[in-house]
This record gives sequence, C-alpha cells and structure tokens, in this order.
Amino acid sequence: MGRAFAYVILGGGVAAGYAALEFARRRAGASPGELCIISDEAVAPYERPALSKAYLLPQGAARLPAFHTCAGANDEVLTEQWYKDHGIELVLATRVISADVRRKTLLTDSGETIGYKTLIVATGARASELEEFGVRGSDAANVCYLRSLEDADRMVGVMRSCHGGNAVVIGGGYIGMECAAALVANEVKVTMVFPGKHCMGRLFTPKIAEFYEKYYAAKGVVFVKGTAVKSLEVSDGKVAAAILRDGRRLPADMVVVGIGARANTGLFDGQLAVERGGIKVNGRMQTSDSAVYAVGDVAAFPVALLGGAVRRFEHVDCARRTARRAIEAILEPSGGAAEEGKAFGYLPYFYSRVFALSWQFYGDNAGEAVHFGDFSPPGAGGKAKFGACWVSGGRVAGAFIEGGSREENEAMASAVRSRAAIADVAAELGSRGLGFADEE
Ligand code: FAD
Repeated sequence: MGRAFAYVILGGGVAAGYAALEFARRRAGASPGELCIISDEAVAPYERPALSKAYLLPQGAARLPAFHTCAGANDEVLTEQWYKDHGIELVLATRVISADVRRKTLLTDSGETIGYKTLIVATGARASELEEFGVRGSDAANVCYLRSLEDADRMVGVMRSCHGGNAVVIGGGYIGMECAAALVANEVKVTMVFPGKHCMGRLFTPKIAEFYEKYYAAKGVVFVKGTAVKSLEVSDGKVAAAILRDGRRLPADMVVVGIGARANTGLFDGQLAVERGGIKVNGRMQTSDSAVYAVGDVAAFPVALLGGAVRRFEHVDCARRTARRAIEAILEPSGGAAEEGKAFGYLPYFYSRVFALSWQFYGDNAGEAVHFGDFSPPGAGGKAKFGACWVSGGRVAGAFIEGGSREENEAMASAVRSRAAIADVAAELGSRGLGFADEE
C-alpha cells in the first residue's frame, strides 16, 4: 500500500480547484496527509473555458498562471504554491487507472496505490472522437480537439502554421462556434460542417441561430449544414480534405473537431450507480457508495428547479457549485442545506463569448420560445441585444440573453429561478426597453 489520505479529489479540473478552495476556507487549510488532488494533467486546476476563448487569441492571449481556478469567479488564483501553502498535495501528471470503492483505493499509472476515507470524483468529461462515429484520422498532425491545455497548445501551433489557409470545423456546438471565432481572429478561413439545421441545435431556436450564423457569415465563415463528414483524406500524416456524406470535398489545411463530450465514468463501471451518462448522486453530491461523492461534468444530480429531475450539466458554473456543495456536505454532514436525498437548488447556467458577442442562458429550454429585443445585425461598433424566454404552463422555464448588462442578466436569472409568470417578465423587460418579439 502506498499513501493514504482522509480526502482524495480524483481529477484536477475546474471542480477540483473550487473544491480545494472551499475545503481550505472551511478548515483554514489542510494538515499533511489530509487532502490530495490526483490529476493526469501536468498543471494545477485551471478555468477550462479560457482554452477556447482568450487562450487562442493571436495577441494578448491568456496564459497560466493567470487563469488557474478560481480566477473565473473573481476569487483567489490557486497556483501550485497556493496548494503547498495550504497543505494540499497535488499529484500531477498521474493517471488513475483503476478504482476499488470497496477497499477505498485508487491505483495510479505510476504503480502507486492511494487510499482514501472519502473520495470526490471530479474526472469531468472527454471530447468525443471521430472514430466513435466511424471516421478515421484523429491522429493526423493537423486534426485538433480542445479539452485540455495540451490540446490548446497543439491547436495554437497548428493554427499558426495555417495562417491564410482553410480550416474545417466539424460540429456546430459551442466548441465549434468558439473555435471558429478564434480561427477567424487568427486569419484562418473557416467552413463549419454539422448535421443539424442550424448551429447550437440543442439550445438555440432557429431565430437565435440565424442571428449568429449571419454574424459569422459576415466574418467569412461558411456553414455547411444538414450533412456530416464521412471521411478524411489523409496524406503524409496530414488531412488534406474532408469528404462529406453528400459527396462534397472540402480542402483542409487543418481540422477542428467539436462533436460533444462523454463523462469520464469508466473507473467506476459496475461500482457506482449511473444515470444520464454520469455518476448518479443525491442532493449532497453523494453517490451510491456513501464514501464517494461526484461533482462537475461527471455528476448527475436531482435539480430542485426541475422538480427533482436528475440532470447532468457540462457547465463551468455547475462544476463550481457542485464542488462547493460536496465539500459543505462532507465537512458539515448535518449542516442546514445538505439533507440526504434532497434535490440541489441549482439554477442551470451556461454562457459563451464569441467575437464581440456574449450570451447567457438560464434554466431549461422546455416549452414555447418567446423572443424579445432586436435581432438585426449590429452596425459597426454597435451592440446586439435580444433574447428568448421558454414558457411552460404560463411560467418562465428558461431564458437566453445576448448582450445583456449585469442587471439584465440577473433579472433573467431571477425570472427563471422564481418561475415568474410570463406577464411579469414582459413588464420587467418592457421597463428595461427590451420589447417582446414574435412567438414560435
Ligand atoms: P474538468 O474541468 O474536465 O476536469 C476533469 C479533470 O479530471 C481533468 O484534469 C482530467 O484530466 C482529470 N482526469 C480525468 N480522468 C482522470 C484519471 N483517470 N486520472 C487522473 N485525472 C483524471 N462551460 C461554460 O459554462 N461556459 C463556457 O464558455 C465553457 N467553455 C468551455 C470551453 C472548453 C474548451 C471546454 C473544454 C469546456 C468549456 N466549458 C464551458 C465546460 C466547462 O469547462 C466544464 O463544465 C468544466 O471544466 C467541468 O469541470 P470538471 O472539473 O467537472 O471537469
């Protein structure tokens, strides 16, 4: 047996960083042998969303240590020194290859067995690969995925070598959209290919998508919709073109793949209950094994706002909040909020920033969408401002807003949180100058 800790956080991403800060605050640091974080990444936890935004900029790009957690919440920036100063052991560049929840042990790729009394699983998700969809070529030198800092460094190198060339972006989700914007900023021509009718198909209404697609088209991005990549033409270890199902051939100097993610649950197959592709937890983030908690992208939890329905979110805000929730539940087992089985009072929240645009989404896009604001393209230097509310049973279930001020974003969040009647929201928006548009 190697080392043993009272608490082990498995995974060193966003949730791990926020859990560490919460732990240190509640305990005024950790004593030696109390808490460790095991991560297969080589650096301390960082704010992953930065990778597809500021990290890819041609000038003034963000670099570590500036975006270590918890910079994204305007909180302390936890460098490796911070972990040392707070008695938290960082076991970096180390992959856990198996877990035994009965024995309470983890086996690492360096052959060490690490024991725990309480385990917090924060293994996040990994990018889905083309091969899972029957397309070969992920290992080509100019094919990029974007999940880790290592991926981002690779993408920066490939992008620089393709200046003025063509990129094919596979996937119309937020990774595809954010990478396309970064490629444009780096003067690489972009064609986006995805099977849906419009970008961000799971969230955007056709009307919202139309705005962003027009905006992107004005920046030179070409959309190829309703088809998918059938194969990649590879020569000398590099992709030269993407062949589409409809027979078209798109020449490519580089390819960026953003086709979704899968939660990293594999270590616990057959050991912990699963749901919605993640590890099932209760409102305290506790799994089917009482000594194991799960947080962030890997955790599926009951959401109070959705009547206790179990959901899994791949949102940075969720990683932060579930991490804090788990630490609270572990360190204060009889604490007020953390009752066994009770749903977590979490308001689903996701955002994205592309070009000069910035949108926020709260809640659930269930029901009928009612649009508001001005969907026409902003003039030079102008700002777009519009949004949508999803209405279910006369009440707001979800809200989207582009270009909202802090107060407007907060007003939308609170309308969703309180499940406001739509008439109240109309009055609220009216008083802020955002009139309602047509219904779908
Ligand atoms: P992660 O941050 O992925 O961390 C998981 C960690 O576990 C990683 O360090 C991983 O290497 C490690 N790990 C996994 N398995 C093992 C193992 N067996 N052994 C050791 N270590 C292991 N969300 C938003 O809301 N808005 C955004 O704008 C946004 N932008 C994003 C941009 C990009 C490029 C990406 C990739 C994600 C973005 N997200 C965004 C999503 C957000 O980053 C995630 O929801 C968040 O990182 C989840 O945190 P996590 O700690 O659960 O997982």
